[in-house]
Amino acid sequence: MILFNVPPFVGPETKYINDAISKHKICGDGEYTKKCNAWLEEKTGAAKVLLTTSCTHATEMAALLCDIQPGDEVIMPSFTFVSTADAFVLRGATVVFVDVRPDTMNIDETKIEAAITDKTKAIVPVHYAGVSCEMDTIMDIAKRHNLMVVEDAAQGIMSTYKGKALGTIGDYGCFSFHETKNYSMGEGGALLIKDENNLEMAEIIREKGTNRSKFFRGQIDKYTWVEAGSSYLPSELNAAYLYGQLENADLIFNDRMNTWNKYYEAFSGIAKDGKVELPVIPNGCTHNAHMFYLKCKDLEERTALINFAKENDILMVFHYIPLHSAPAGKKYGRFNGEDVYTTKESERLVRLPLYYGLTEEDRNKVIKTVLDFYSDK
Ligand SMILES: *Cc1c(COP(=O)(O)O)cnc(C)c1O
Repeated sequence: MILFNVPPFVGPETKYINDAISKHKICGDGEYTKKCNAWLEEKTGAAKVLLTTSCTHATEMAALLCDIQPGDEVIMPSFTFVSTADAFVLRGATVVFVDVRPDTMNIDETKIEAAITDKTKAIVPVHYAGVSCEMDTIMDIAKRHNLMVVEDAAQGIMSTYKGKALGTIGDYGCFSFHETKNYSMGEGGALLIKDENNLEMAEIIREKGTNRSKFFRGQIDKYTWVEAGSSYLPSELNAAYLYGQLENADLIFNDRMNTWNKYYEAFSGIAKDGKVELPVIPNGCTHNAHMFYLKCKDLEERTALINFAKENDILMVFHYIPLHSAPAGKKYGRFNGEDVYTTKESERLVRLPLYYGLTEEDRNKVIKTVLDFYSDK
């Protein structure tokens, strides 16, 4: 069976986890968490990065830092994972969904302004498949309307937009290190902070509303409860696993990129014949090979392809059910404008197996299976 995803594992992860155990430091914010934060700051250029228990939690932190209040509105695409919306809905916000662009499946930046009302507080671009949204336009809209920008860069680590790392362009950026992402710690994430002045409040929120981080740095002589917060610190065991991956970031990146490029080449023929559509990487964007997807003719053809792959022992998957059509999406949100592409395009998108260590043999089998499927179409 060729799995859709296998969590990344390079080797040093075990050594680092054992090291954390032997040093009797397994709770949050130890040596490995600090190493991961520093690595991410260095790599992305973000003023500050804080490792979190998930990208969902990083987004919750961003919602708290943006001071989202009941009745506020937050603009985002409907074609995204539930966490993007959950983080703001938990604060009592209404989610306003905007259509996506069919080329990248990212929020259509030309449709954002029409969704802005006097209740709008933030825009949440999601960098689907690690390919950037049109950030110059989005930042310009945010500036003119005095809105916060929180980038859902769950899939976007190591990708850039006009030379800038995804997650560092908006006020806050959120990474995921879930086991399905390029770099993993099982469950985990990171909050990227653009303005260093927001670090103190972020640390307080992440440390149960206390100024404990300041205490550990010796800046105050006792710590206390200063704000409403929660517990968003990952365990050192998870951070140690992640550090083993970050140290090998290029190895993982190159391996995934090789698979991505081989898929792209192999399917360029059926794309040219108009049988499928391939991912689009706009000018000025570099991607991280997070995902390789094809767009079939329609839902029926996609179902047939997934079944054909399964018969050939290959797991292919699709996502997302657009949030505005889900029960919670109807309860907490509304779609602004017309759903021209969100539903139609999501129904024909299929993701191929892509993970660190996918063998050439398995990759070739996936390619052959897809080409066989389309040979008589
Ligand atoms: C994976 C993902 C998330 C959630 O990440 P977690 O770390 O599992 O909380 C959020 N948004 C998008 C777009 C994702 O792909």
